[in-house]
Amino acid sequence: MRLADLPIREELRGRHPYGAPQLDVPVRLNTNENSYPVPAELVADIEATVRALAGGLNRYPDRDALALRADLAGYLGHGLTAADTWAANGSNEVLQQLLQAFGGSGRTALGFTPSYSMHPIIAAGTGTAWVDGMRAGDFTVSADRAVAQVREHAPDVVFLCSPNNPTGTALDLDVVAAVCGCAPGMVVVDEAYAEFARPGTPGALALLPEHPRLVVTRTMSKAFAMAGLRVGYLAADPAVVEALLLVRLPYHLSALTQAVARAALRHTAALLSTVDSIKAQRDRIVAALPALGLRAVPSDANFVLFGTFADEAASWQAMLDRGVLVRDVGLPGWLRVTAGTPSEVDGFLDALREVAGNG
Ligand code: PMP
Repeated sequence: MRLADLPIREELRGRHPYGAPQLDVPVRLNTNENSYPVPAELVADIEATVRALAGGLNRYPDRDALALRADLAGYLGHGLTAADTWAANGSNEVLQQLLQAFGGSGRTALGFTPSYSMHPIIAAGTGTAWVDGMRAGDFTVSADRAVAQVREHAPDVVFLCSPNNPTGTALDLDVVAAVCGCAPGMVVVDEAYAEFARPGTPGALALLPEHPRLVVTRTMSKAFAMAGLRVGYLAADPAVVEALLLVRLPYHLSALTQAVARAALRHTAALLSTVDSIKAQRDRIVAALPALGLRAVPSDANFVLFGTFADEAASWQAMLDRGVLVRDVGLPGWLRVTAGTPSEVDGFLDALREVAGNG
């Protein structure tokens, strides 16, 4: 039987699943993970945490993950408490729960393309109509441009992504505030890469008190080097969290996940100690490109969108042939690379020198 033979929902027909390649090559820089392994002190804490918990796994976990949410609120600051936060299995699940509660059949979500590919995929999965908003040619979004498009489409949910994947572009707070001022529904700022922003690039948490329909999502998958754990979270008005309780599955976040995430937060300083080095490698990539006849989009994230290539798919394959996995994000002329360790970036630049040299 083929997929097309199944009575699948019409809006899912012909769609492609999220599918970043998971290949075993020497230099893997295609999914914006943190390349640094979990520090030994946290590994020991995780071992002790899991050992202490294992005998009690016959019981369901705390459905509301209150202790973890209190720790996450403490990390975010801004006077936030457990009541203003929510956590799930990756920020992808948080985003899905938001669309389950605020999107769905007969409703619309708008994002500014190119942006995170999962936003429209989660919209399709939740039966939410999707509108591709437009960025300027340099991938920025001004307040005027954003407000005009939100007014035109009046979406139930607006996705902003700052710093934006795959371009690395951060939004000025006046853009977020302007969108909050005109959006008829919810405004979600996906800040998965917030910790990598350059100095002077503010996050949207500061706007929460004035904008009760603003939601800021974060993740432990990037700066916190915990992509394998699957913990994402949000900060919002407590009423938003109440809405999510209506759609979350009971006990969605396992006892192991909650406890290990809390262990990781006890080692925040050690985990975030890699961020400065990653930012330095990002800036090194940006600086190295002009000598190769290429350019980068200015980045506030742990990755760089670079180009332009006559045939980005061929260049992607040529990099892979040299053992370097980068990302073809489907944007003509461009590829994306994650800022890894200095030696990974050496490998990336060495391969790129050959590939760019070959046209
Ligand atoms: N938002 C953005 C912008 C991302 O790039 C990603 C991961 N690539 C996510 C959310 C989801 O990450 P996770 O589910 O691991 O938290």
